[in-house]
Amino acid sequence: MTLPTRSYAAQSATTPLAPFQFERRDPRSDDVVIDILYCGVCHSDIHQARNEWGGSVFPMVPGHEIVGRVSAVGKDVTQFKVGDTVGVGCLVDSCQHCASCNAGLEQYCEEGGTWTYNAKDRRDGTATQGGYSERIVVSDKFVVSISEKLDLKAAAPLLCAGITTWSPLRHWNVGKGSKVAVIGLGGLGHMGLKFAKAMGADVTLFTRSPGKEEEARRLGADHVVLSTDEKQMAAVARQFEFILDTVPNPHDLNPYLNTLALNGTLCLVGQLQPLDPPVQAASVVLGRRSIAGSAIGGIAETQEMLDFCAEHNIVSDIEVINMQDINAAYERVVKSDVRYRFVIDMASL
Ligand code: NAP
Ligand code: ZN
Repeated sequence: MTLPTRSYAAQSATTPLAPFQFERRDPRSDDVVIDILYCGVCHSDIHQARNEWGGSVFPMVPGHEIVGRVSAVGKDVTQFKVGDTVGVGCLVDSCQHCASCNAGLEQYCEEGGTWTYNAKDRRDGTATQGGYSERIVVSDKFVVSISEKLDLKAAAPLLCAGITTWSPLRHWNVGKGSKVAVIGLGGLGHMGLKFAKAMGADVTLFTRSPGKEEEARRLGADHVVLSTDEKQMAAVARQFEFILDTVPNPHDLNPYLNTLALNGTLCLVGQLQPLDPPVQAASVVLGRRSIAGSAIGGIAETQEMLDFCAEHNIVSDIEVINMQDINAAYERVVKSDVRYRFVIDMASL
């Protein structure tokens, strides 16, 4: 017996999202059944629904910033019970025995983690489908607890935008007095500002959008640099220990590399395509600078981030939408007109 589930799906890379009904699996012994309350809208949803990364499988129900309430659990589940508020992010399974999984870094699973949607369930081969739906069924190891202290709708983006910015900031030891910059003030970028500030860093935002300066300061930026202004860029040469680059499309890294201090690191989280134009190796060599990358975060680390957020009352700045408004929301994200994350109220479905 499966669970008929209403959702919004893309039927192809060129069709708008539209109502779609499919079956969720009957819960396995380790599964948690979650009634979805809210789901954030990540730029990755758009990349995949429009097949911008290649290999998309349709029909596709996007959504990997999921907050909901447990409605049933399999017989072996001990960590969660009916009524708990929980979250699911970008991963719903992994091999759970490789070196990465053993280190709690399921997102770097050597056999490839199972993504929440646009992937195949590794146990039964069925298509995984995401959070733009009324419920989801997920193995308990990939479910995290969310404190009722948090505004649940504003907590949804923590499951992807939150952990994707938290993990590199922690990995590169950002802390009190670190000089950090974030590139791009969208869903990821605004969480980057909040976390870097909460960790005690001196925080700069690079933006192409002159209108975002005041809000950036409210969100945690100590300084704002308009990246299209060469003078402003020159004024911050050799400043930053760490730059978190959230730009979603291929862009020139060279102007930003010049703003890294000796030994500084620029970490890509947004762009998956080849670097273009080429990186000036001299700028990397002569400053002992690094270009790095980072993907979401492990499950234990996601729980640690959520607990930090509950303690420090950190959530996302959101605009709540109805499920029916999703296509218009996508257009606004593409135009960088999102303040700073859309979240779908699933009751509208
Ligand atoms: P978003 O809300 O659209 O924010 C991106 C921001 O980047 C925009 O608001 C804009 O900020 C800036 N920007 C956009 N296009 C640009 C361009 N061509 N050149 C320079 N700046 C540009 O997107 P998001 O949801 O934060 O996601 C950002 C990227 O991260 C996406 O590619 C997404 O797929 C990826 N992602 C990666 C991971 C991971 O694990 N690594 C996880 C989640 C998402 P300004 O207006 O301030 O310039
Ligand atoms: Zn995402």
